[in-house]
Amino acid sequence: MAKQDYYEILGISKSASQAEIKKAYRKMAIKYHPDKNPDDKTAEENFKKSAEAYEVLSDENKKARYDQYGHAAFDGPQGGGGFGGGGMNMDDIFSQFGDIFGGGGFGGFGGGGQRQGRVKGSNMRIRVKLTLEEVAKGVEKKVKVRRKVQAEGVKYKTCPTCNGTGQQMRVTNTILGRMQTATTCSACSGAGEVISSKPNGADSDGLIIKEETVSINIPAGVTEGVQLKVGGKGNDAPGNNSISGDLLVLIEEIHHETLKREGTNIHYDLYINFSEAVLGITKEVETVTGKVKIKIDAGTQSGKILRLKGKGLPSIERYGTGDFLIHINVWTPQELNKEQRQFFEKMSSNENFAPSPNKSDKSFFEKVKDMFS
Ligand SMILES: [Zn+2]
Repeated sequence: MAKQDYYEILGISKSASQAEIKKAYRKMAIKYHPDKNPDDKTAEENFKKSAEAYEVLSDENKKARYDQYGHAAFDGPQGGGGFGGGGMNMDDIFSQFGDIFGGGGFGGFGGGGQRQGRVKGSNMRIRVKLTLEEVAKGVEKKVKVRRKVQAEGVKYKTCPTCNGTGQQMRVTNTILGRMQTATTCSACSGAGEVISSKPNGADSDGLIIKEETVSINIPAGVTEGVQLKVGGKGNDAPGNNSISGDLLVLIEEIHHETLKREGTNIHYDLYINFSEAVLGITKEVETVTGKVKIKIDAGTQSGKILRLKGKGLPSIERYGTGDFLIHINVWTPQELNKEQRQFFEKMSSNENFAPSPNKSDKSFFEKVKDMFS
């Protein structure tokens, strides 16, 4: 049987606004609500259909896909929504109502689910500072954290407020009539048990503070502001069935004295003296992964960039490693003795000292010209 058109189900035109879509769905939801139509299979079917139509049409992305491809947009494993098979389930539908009818009350633990929740402890946050060398290779950092852990000898009993279900049922009056909704038990936070006895020093949750050394494996190539997660190394939560929070590690980069990071590339300003530029020289340069010898040719111009391929930083998102770029700066002597002054005065008029950019690789202006030609 062909699926009915979503616009048809809600009785609206294709040009309906979001407000009109919402209004139409409200009308259908009230009309076909199971509480008002007990044991009416057709009403239930219509109730589910309109919920499915609203689910798609109220979401601009899904609506656009539907407008273009029709029901085929949600077929197959890539199809969205999870209602390819037997339609939406009632929990899903009721969880929409907070949005439709305003006000909460349909949430409950885990967003409307009926299962008993496992309480999770709070996350902790720390900052870790890394040098560029550490970023280049990746590093294992050991940090001391003070986390809340469950004290030894805490005893639990079934929560008397919710009888261990972790949920409290509440009856609310809505425009659909009286509805029973589940919320997380306020006495046990959904754990289903409360503390019956605890040792001295433990807080009301049966937790104590403990200093612990946590080792964090930091992959190569991380950038400032990246957050890593060490699962289970945050604070514990009370209860036998609880899970610990996480330790969130915020990466900070230590400013490097001589190296400048630009994504995965590293820039370095190398200063050589006038004679070295004229005569050529081999220099040792400290990269992030160790020392490298570089050869500077005789007659090298100031501003030349030497590129050491793959000597930069690895990327955590992409394949490959950046480059280490050496910017050659020729240091012009600022003080001269009498003898040197005479030498340079004599050389100044020498034809070999006359700037002749065309004879060297390419001048700055030529490179710019190339870019635009
Ligand atoms: Zn409880």
